[in-house]
Formats: sequence, structure tokens, C-alpha cells
Amino acid sequence: MTRLLIEGGTLLGLSSPGDVQRGADLYAQDGRIRAVGGEARRLAREDPSAFVERFDARGKWVLPGFVQAHLHLCQTLLRNGPDDLELLPWLERHVWPGEAAHDAETMSVSARLGIAELLSAGVTSVLDMGSVRHSDALFQAAAAAGIRYVGGNVLMDDPETTPPTLRAAAEEGIAETERLHEKWHGKENGRLSVAVQPRFAVSCTDALLRRAGELARDLGLVVHTHASENEDECALVERRTGLGNLEYLDAVGLLGPRSCVAHVVHAGGSDFRLLARRRTSVAHCPSSNLKLASGICPVPELRRAGVHIALGSDGAACNDSLDLFREMRLAALLPRARRPAERIPAFDVLRMATREGASALALEEVGGLTAGARADLVILDPETAWSLPDDWSDEPYGAIVYSMGRENVAATVVDGIVRYRKEDPSVGGTKPAAEVVREAVRTLRARMEKAPAATASA
Ligand SMILES: [Zn+2]
Repeated sequence: MTRLLIEGGTLLGLSSPGDVQRGADLYAQDGRIRAVGGEARRLAREDPSAFVERFDARGKWVLPGFVQAHLHLCQTLLRNGPDDLELLPWLERHVWPGEAAHDAETMSVSARLGIAELLSAGVTSVLDMGSVRHSDALFQAAAAAGIRYVGGNVLMDDPETTPPTLRAAAEEGIAETERLHEKWHGKENGRLSVAVQPRFAVSCTDALLRRAGELARDLGLVVHTHASENEDECALVERRTGLGNLEYLDAVGLLGPRSCVAHVVHAGGSDFRLLARRRTSVAHCPSSNLKLASGICPVPELRRAGVHIALGSDGAACNDSLDLFREMRLAALLPRARRPAERIPAFDVLRMATREGASALALEEVGGLTAGARADLVILDPETAWSLPDDWSDEPYGAIVYSMGRENVAATVVDGIVRYRKEDPSVGGTKPAAEVVREAVRTLRARMEKAPAATASA
């Protein structure tokens, strides 16, 4: 039973650019927004429960929490690895050996480090692609830290393209997703959900992809995968299947309204129309696409076709930050480098980072500031850091997208509970100490040195 009264903030509901209430209160009860405006204070005063937590938001901006629609918490410990590889060699040499080296303890450190960073940057929900094993550690970390988590194990079974150390036979991988579903789905007041996550077409047999689609449909789960990130990946899929990458994912039953596909850098008109027809969301990860030299997602074309666009940082191994402010800024700037230039308004970019992200994660009750919505919020302080002045425009959206960063996050609220305050850099004890992080990395490196080489390019 939680009660939270956020007092006197500027509420940015993001339903339309004019959805701004200044000097307004917001009252949340048991994880949901009960009321905003004058009604909020009255309800808080009349609430018969003993304790109402108050947050003074005067001078601050309150908006729906950020949603990371593509992430790998299992890779946080792989941050600051090789900087200059493209996707397939980077997977073979760094990411897959690193993931294979995890045990439950290092997985937990990796997840806690990532979740602490996310909460401190205003992220309230994540769609997280885990690894083949030790997925319980991800759910445990998310449960304890208080973030809204959709994710679980990754599926990869193809002996031609995946290393023996990081592979599970199709039935084994599917059984693991079913086990996680049984154990975690809907737990923590509905804050934890399981997704069905074939890594990408390259790493999975046809039988596994089809089985994954069936499982997601049977259980009503989100499908999360990578697609058309890199030209070599697309060529490999075409050689193996005779189909374009997205066309193939559709043929095996993986594209639908509860599917979120990361990247979609190398795609054309028929792909855009297919994604729109299937109402599949795309997680745009501009930093990752630039760092791995993959290319630039054709966001304007996808939007014109009617495809939902969400934003993601991808893993810390290829970004190397989990700060969604950076992705918002890049998502807004990259289309302007085209000739002729394309423009996506800051308001629309902010929607990608919030409401459209929630929709990509099939979180119907998340993303708004109206009564009944889940109380997942970020509270921004325009007076900290380097974002002043803030009075050239009546609309604050440009300031958030172009000028602010995670240093402006005053607090992050998930399910009506304050999970991060700027005054507490330990993020409620979630952030592991530096020596714990370094010790976990020493463990991973020692195991990686002993392991056989991986391959993704059969
Ligand atoms: Zn990824």
C-alpha cells in the first residue's frame, strides 16, 4: 500500500503538445495515478491510510518515465570493450564469449549496474534481451531495484552460427522461457513480464523461430528480436532462406502487434509496409548503429508508413552508455543530415522515448499521466546542470531532447514508488561498488581466455 503526492510540478502528459499543467499536483495510490490537479491534493488529504509520501516538485517537470525498448543488461559488464569492430566479428570476439562466461553472480552484478544507471537516467521500463543462461538473476535484480522489466532468456540454437558455450537446443530454450514465465510473469504487482526472444534469424534454426512464434501467441507474450541491423547479417539470412530478413521473420510467424524488432537499418519500402501491416514496433538504437558502423535506421520512411518507433540504447557493450537522452538527441538530429533534410519534432521524439516505447512493450497502462495509469514517472530539474535558460519557448520539449541529460533527473518513480533520488547515487543500494564490478570482470576475463572461439558467419 503506497501513497505518493507529487506537489506543484509542471505536468507534461505528452498526449498532445498542449498537454501541460503548471503548478499541478499528482496523487498516486498503490502504483496507479489516482488524480492530477486540485483533486489530487484533496484525495491525499482525505486518504485514511497513515502515511502519504510527499515530493516537492515546484520548479520541476513531471512526465511519463522513459522506456528503453532494446537493451541487454547481461552486457553491462562488457562495456568499454573493443571499439572498432562491426556486428558479426564483435559478437564473435567479445559479446558471445563474454555472455558465455557469466555465472549467476556476475549476471547479477551486470544487471544491477545497468538498472542503477537506467533508474538514475529516468528510465522506468525496459525490454531486456538476456543471455542463454542465468536469467533468474535478471528478474531478481529487477524485482529488487523496482524497475518495470520485460525480458528473460535469449534463444539461440543453430550449431552452424553459434558457439557451443552459448547455445541451447530449441526445446531447451523454449522450456527455459516457459519456466521463467511460470516463475516471474506478472509478479511484483505486474511489474515483471517475460518476453520470447530469438536473438536474430542468423543464430536460430527455422524450427526454433517457428516454435518461438507459437509460444508467444499461446501465452500472449511480447516477441523481441534483432533484425536487419547489418548488411552482412542480411546477406547471410538471404543466402540461408532465400528471403529478405523481415520477410523471413514474418514467414516464421514472428511479426505481430506484440513484436518489437530492434534496429531495422537495412530495409526498404516493402519492409516498411510489412511492419506497418503487422503493427510491429521498431526499436531505434542510433548510438549502437553508429558505433558498430551498421548504418542509420530510415525512421522518417518507417513513420510515414505508419510504423511505431521506440528508442533503445542497446547493450552497454556497443554504446557504451544506457542514457536515453543521448538516443533522443541522435534520433532528432540524424534525419537533419539528409538532403533534403527531414525533421522529427522534439515532441515526437519524446513520445518515442515514452508512450510509443510503452506500446512497443505492450504495456497498455504505462505512458500517460491520467487517472488509472501506472505511476511511472520521471521528474526533471531544469535548474541543475546546464539547461538554463528554459523560458525561450512555451513548450519544454526541445529543452528535454536537445539540452538536458541524465544529470537533470531529480527522481524516478516506478509503480508509485520513488526508486531514485538525485541525492542517493547508490540508487537505493542497487548500484554495485566499483570493486565488486572489477572483480566480476576479472572473473569473466579469466573464463573468456580459456574458452574456444565463437562463430557467427557460417
Ligand atoms: Zn541488441
